[in-house]
Amino acid sequence: MTLDHAQAALKKYFGYDSFRPLQADIIEAVYAGRDALVLMPTGGGKSICYQIPAVTLDGVAIVVSPLIALMKDQVEGLRANGIPAAFLNSTLTTEQVFQLENELLAGHIKLLYVSPEKLVTAGFRQLLSRLKVSLFAIDEAHCISSWGHDFRPEYTQLQFLKEQYPNTPMAALTATADRITRKDIVAQLRLSDPALFIASFDRPNIRLTVRPGQNRLGQILDFLKKHPDQSGIIYCLARKTCESLAQRLNAYGFRAAYYHAEMPPHQRSQAQEDFINDRVPIMCATIAFGMGIDKSNVRFVLHYNMPRNVESYYQEIGRCGRDGLPAEAVLFFSYADVMTYREMFERDETTPPEQKALKIDKLERMFEFAQVPVCRRKTVLAYFGETYDGNCGHCDVCLRPPQQFDGTIAAQKALSALKRVNERVGMNMLIDILRGSNRRDILERGHHQIKTYGAGKEYTFDEWAFLLSQMLHSGLIEIAYDDHNCLRVTEEGNKVLFQGKKVTLALPQPKEKASPTAREKALKAESLSGEVPGSLGENQHEELFQRLRELRRTIAVQQGVPPYVVFHDTTLQDMAVKCPLFVFDLLQVSGVGERKMERFGEAFVREIRRFALEKNPTGHKPKGISIIRTWALLDAGFSLEQIAEMRGLAPTTVAAHLAALYETGDNLDLSKWISAEALEHIQRVLPQLSEPYALSAVQELAGEQYHFDQIRFAIADYRRQRRVAATPTDNEAEEA
Ligand code: ADP
Ligand code: ZN
Repeated sequence: MTLDHAQAALKKYFGYDSFRPLQADIIEAVYAGRDALVLMPTGGGKSICYQIPAVTLDGVAIVVSPLIALMKDQVEGLRANGIPAAFLNSTLTTEQVFQLENELLAGHIKLLYVSPEKLVTAGFRQLLSRLKVSLFAIDEAHCISSWGHDFRPEYTQLQFLKEQYPNTPMAALTATADRITRKDIVAQLRLSDPALFIASFDRPNIRLTVRPGQNRLGQILDFLKKHPDQSGIIYCLARKTCESLAQRLNAYGFRAAYYHAEMPPHQRSQAQEDFINDRVPIMCATIAFGMGIDKSNVRFVLHYNMPRNVESYYQEIGRCGRDGLPAEAVLFFSYADVMTYREMFERDETTPPEQKALKIDKLERMFEFAQVPVCRRKTVLAYFGETYDGNCGHCDVCLRPPQQFDGTIAAQKALSALKRVNERVGMNMLIDILRGSNRRDILERGHHQIKTYGAGKEYTFDEWAFLLSQMLHSGLIEIAYDDHNCLRVTEEGNKVLFQGKKVTLALPQPKEKASPTAREKALKAESLSGEVPGSLGENQHEELFQRLRELRRTIAVQQGVPPYVVFHDTTLQDMAVKCPLFVFDLLQVSGVGERKMERFGEAFVREIRRFALEKNPTGHKPKGISIIRTWALLDAGFSLEQIAEMRGLAPTTVAAHLAALYETGDNLDLSKWISAEALEHIQRVLPQLSEPYALSAVQELAGEQYHFDQIRFAIADYRRQRRVAATPTDNEAEEA
């Protein structure tokens, strides 16, 4: 197997022209029979790395995947592309399993998704020994490591695979793995001398924003108003928050559903289906939601609560913008979340101490990410061990850099207030004291009588929260986790308070969004116009895109599949730009493979043709449009002769149009115009001639009894079978 095979399969099944960085290298390693460890961010394109070897190599690829929803989705997507895939997990009936086994043994399945629980059963191991396995792919491989953030004990049994099948290549894939986890994956899976592939974790189309968590609902409403009709996920920590937030959003006129692990299964899957099928655009969910949801047009992920570590954060925001178009990730942080997690970790008796420490450490890093006013992208990439030169120019920090100022006086006010209440308060109360709040507990405790009460009114609550967390990170104060999370002044803090040591702090960024930068505008324009200059103006692209989306929705409903299984948004956009009038031209659209062209091509081309006829766009070649006018009349039920008369064309020109339509993929019934015998007879002489066929030369060989129209249809059919048809407008040789 060579990369040429891989490239051809990529085009044929997935409709993509080229591999993304690393994909080709990974596939080559698998072809060479090597084990591989693949680290790629969510949405980076991991699946292709084992799916292409699976379809090109002999035998069946076994894909271990932890989530049933993920399997079903992936298998559905693959089947829509014409790849024989199946899954095996606890949801199948005995009969279904039996049938699947037969198909496997007959060699009819190229990819089999298995849950780890199923994989290790004696029954499956026995079946496995009777199959020809092309490769093993271990998805979400970090689940094998107790150092990872998502440890699943059942994964640890997977080591038997390599022991039993040492010569079958194994690819372990994950979106999140630091160095220890990486090593652990290799060791536990028993990978032998694996090729290591680490893709960049950069997801430049996702804008990262962090906001203080005050008035979250208001901020979310603002956000949703600015992003109408877009699909997105709002992650909440608690089940109750999911429900109440969804309720409130609905009350404000947005369509939102909720999802959490404690809902009954049927309700859960209903909510998920509604989201996937674009019936409900907004999902308020706990982190139970989203794993394995390959919905490519999720435009935003909001974190109502802070995630517990950067890995989770990045994995969760990775669910937006999978189609590569601009997407937004907004994180609301609040100090209370940090406390909640800490308590959660502390309370958990089952976690051994060193893992507790690891969790707390990761939590601190997350908090740091939210707090430190450095380019977000740079920070997050640094976390995953990547250096990013310069700043991204795209995140909230880059767009509105916080202003540094001499914060000594502000810091002193806070430190002094803290001392005066004997370091017996937490962050929120300290801010309220500084701002002179009338909170009852402040008055009851007599904190309003201290000298610094109300001394910090020049800053809002948010601003103080921002300043205090900087003080926390620069070590002027610390949190007594073992003592009700009260704040304490540190040695460093004492120096500021008593020795006038200078502190530089940053003021929070203004809330209002600046007008879009040139870069943002450029990014937007890029996504709408694509690489190939289209024949429509930008507004028309958008209009056509919307119509294609409508059509996609209708088809999806009819066929009972999620819309993205039909085509992704990126594919529809490219289609709207390239505006192909002929079915085979659809193959030039990114994301249209042969199977999907056959299955959906005609429907989409019809829509594009109607649009072209209505809008009369410039840019299409006149001959193309002329053919389409003929098509429209044929479609309305008129005969060749009637069309010729109605259009004032020679019948032979209309015949040429029809032949061109057939040649480029329209499923016309040729028998109306040529008998099967004539077709066969004419085609028998064609191999003696060569392209471009001259009608008279064909007639000379085939016989005078065949007229030019019949010869045209015979040639069209001949070409179509060999798929040599060019766009009719490019193929001038046979002009009548
Ligand atoms: P991951 O499993 O890494 O999260 P996927 O394999 O689901 O990512 O790929 C993410 C998206 O990128 C999918 O929509 C997929 O079709 C698309 N994609 C993958 N490889 C390519 C490619 N070479 N060209 C264009 N699109 C691609
Ligand atoms: Zn930045």
